[in-house]
Amino acid sequence: MKNTGVCPKCGHSNIIRIPGQVKAYGAGNNIPMGMTIFSYIPVDRYLCLNCGFSEEWIEPEYLPALEEKYR
Ligand SMILES: [Zn+2]
Repeated sequence: MKNTGVCPKCGHSNIIRIPGQVKAYGAGNNIPMGMTIFSYIPVDRYLCLNCGFSEEWIEPEYLPALEEKYR
């Protein structure tokens, strides 16, 4: 979906990207990594406007830190 621009569920290409956000107190779509606002990892969401299916992606630069914390 992120790479193809096509919904894997219904085949439509009406896809929007909703960027992950890190707001005060951890509001927004993100993963907590610690106690400060700098410790949240934003999660981008791709949403099909035809059927409502959504996919979530995290930038590759954050993956090593996630592996270390949650593995
Ligand atoms: Zn769809």
